[in-house]
Amino acid sequence: MEPEEGEETGSERATVTMRRSSDPGWLLQTRGLAAGYGDEAAFEDVSLEVFGREIVSLIGPNGAGKTTLLRCLAGILPPREGSVEKAPGLRVSYLPQKLALDRLLPVTVAEFLSLRLGHSLFRCDWKGGEQAESLEELGVLNLLDRRLGELSGGELQRVLVASALAKRPQLLLLDEPATGVDLLGAAAFDALLHRLRDRDGLGILLVSHDLHLVHHISDWIYFLNRRILASGPPKEVLREERLAAAYQRFPHPG
Ligand code: ATP
Repeated sequence: MEPEEGEETGSERATVTMRRSSDPGWLLQTRGLAAGYGDEAAFEDVSLEVFGREIVSLIGPNGAGKTTLLRCLAGILPPREGSVEKAPGLRVSYLPQKLALDRLLPVTVAEFLSLRLGHSLFRCDWKGGEQAESLEELGVLNLLDRRLGELSGGELQRVLVASALAKRPQLLLLDEPATGVDLLGAAAFDALLHRLRDRDGLGILLVSHDLHLVHHISDWIYFLNRRILASGPPKEVLREERLAAAYQRFPHPG
């Protein structure tokens, strides 16, 4: 998605390249969004867009409000101010950073995925049909008979991504999805996100601290530190001096 006249605010506080929210194909847009906990605002004045067929990354230091923003977009946390608008009938899947999962649960991967899909365990045949192909791509097909508690961190992460995809979302919200995934797994994961975007037309909004991943995977980046301080294509937002300036000028208040 091209920037609107490469516009920059020019203010000392932020460099924000605006996008055309009037473009068809947007999945989600927020205007002046704020949310938080108790009396504290975790973020405020957030206006952003996610379009179909693009990967958008949300970056920023610890405590910047990234997870809170994703929770707000997923509808788990109500906004205090502003609006979240979704395309009519939009199917959204949210993969939280830390899923409360009892690792001792005596449940196999196939059973877990079937439950998430909402099919009866007996009707759902994971080993045949079109689901098998995407499970193969995710490296989950050979894990189906394993118990959740036996999986490594990276294997569990792949299963969780599969569960987020089970309902065929159009918009995927991923909070630190590559955490605990090894280098080989990370490459496969990048390829998967690209396939989801290019082949299936998904819009993907992901939170990540991995600036290398963010640089080569993203179509668009929002830099958040309690408010959006910069946005634009990776080569623009991730310019070293700009990032350094952003982190220094806006240190986390805590
Ligand atoms: P990180 O990169 O460390 O995951 P983040 O950018 O995702 O950080 P958030 O987790 O959204 O940041 O936190 C933003 C602020 O809200 C922080 O000051 C944090 O302490 C606070 N916060 C987060 N979750 C809660 C909660 N459940 N109750 C109260 N305050 C919270």
